[in-house]
Amino acid sequence: MALIGSIKDKLQKLQKSWFGLGSLFSGGKIDESFWETLEEQLLLGDVGVDLTEELITKLREVAKGSNIKDASELKAKFIELIVQKLEEIPGMGKPIEVKNKPTLVLIVGVNGSGKTTTAAKLAYKFKQQGYSVLLAAADTYRAAAIDQLKVWGDKIGLRVVAHKVGGDPAAVIYDAIESATASGTDMVIVDTAGRLHTKHNLMEELRKVKRVIEKRLPDEPSESLLVLDAVMGQNAFYQAEVFNEALKLTGVILAKYDNAAKGGIILAVAQKMSLPIRYVGLGEGIEDLEPFEPRAFVEALLS
Ligand code: GDP
Repeated sequence: MALIGSIKDKLQKLQKSWFGLGSLFSGGKIDESFWETLEEQLLLGDVGVDLTEELITKLREVAKGSNIKDASELKAKFIELIVQKLEEIPGMGKPIEVKNKPTLVLIVGVNGSGKTTTAAKLAYKFKQQGYSVLLAAADTYRAAAIDQLKVWGDKIGLRVVAHKVGGDPAAVIYDAIESATASGTDMVIVDTAGRLHTKHNLMEELRKVKRVIEKRLPDEPSESLLVLDAVMGQNAFYQAEVFNEALKLTGVILAKYDNAAKGGIILAVAQKMSLPIRYVGLGEGIEDLEPFEPRAFVEALLS
C-alpha cells in the first residue's frame, strides 16, 4: 500500500497538466449539460470516441439504476467503471517477473519515444530489488544510443554489452544472453533500434532478434515491451500495430506521462491496443518509472 501511496503523491504533483474532470464530479445536478461536458472532457483528454461513448452509456445506466441525482455521488461509480475497463485486459499493471535466468526484456519503440532512458530506468529498478541485470545496446545504428546506454550503465553500476556502430543487433543480443548465462545474471534488458521510416528493415531485424532469443532461450519467459510517448496521443497506435506485426508484444510502457496534457491516453492505449500498460514514465530521472497501478492513476485523473 505504501507503494500505491507514493505513486499517488507523484501523480498529484503532476495533476495540474491533466484534464480536469475533478470539478465536474465535485457536485451539481446531473442533467444533459453534465453529460455533454463529460463527453467533451473525455474526448479532449484523448480517451477516444468509442470508449467515451461506451463509458457515458454505462454511467447513464448506473445513474438511472441507482437513482443518483448529484454528480459527486457518481464519481466513485465512474472510477469503478474505468478501473474495470482497464483491468479487463490481462496483465494490466503487472510488473515484470524475474522467473528464470536470464529473464529477457526487449524494449522496442520509435526513436525519441524514451526507449533508452526506459531501459536504464527498468534496469535500475530491478537492481534496487536485488537482481543482477545486464544491459544490451542493440540499437547499433546510432552511436549516440550506444553511448547513452553506456553512460546510464556507468551511473547505475551495470555492465552494458555493446558492439560497434553498424553491427548486427541479433549478435549483440546473442552475446548478452551468453554472457548472462555464463555469469548467472537474472535479467537482460535490451535497448533496440526504432527507425520506423525504414519499416521493412526494422521489422526484419526485429524478427531476426526474436528468432535468436527463441532459439537461445526456448523455455525462458521473455518480454517485448513497447515504449510509447504519451505526448503523441492517438498517433501512437499505428506504431503498436507495426511492432506487433514483428513481435508478440507483452505490454506497453507509457513514457513521458508527466508531460502529457491528455491523461486519458491510458484508456485509449488499453482500448485500442488490447495491450496491458505495465509501467509509466513520470520524468527524466532514473527513479521516474512506476508500475501502472490502474486505480491510483484513475483516481488521480479525477481528483
Ligand atoms: P529513444 O530515442 O527512444 O531511446 O529515447 P530516449 O531514451 O533517448 O529519450 C528521449 C528523450 O525523452 C530524452 O530527453 C529523455 O530524457 C526523455 N524522456 C524519456 N522518458 C521520459 C519520461 O518519462 N518523462 C520525461 N519528461 N522525459 C522522458
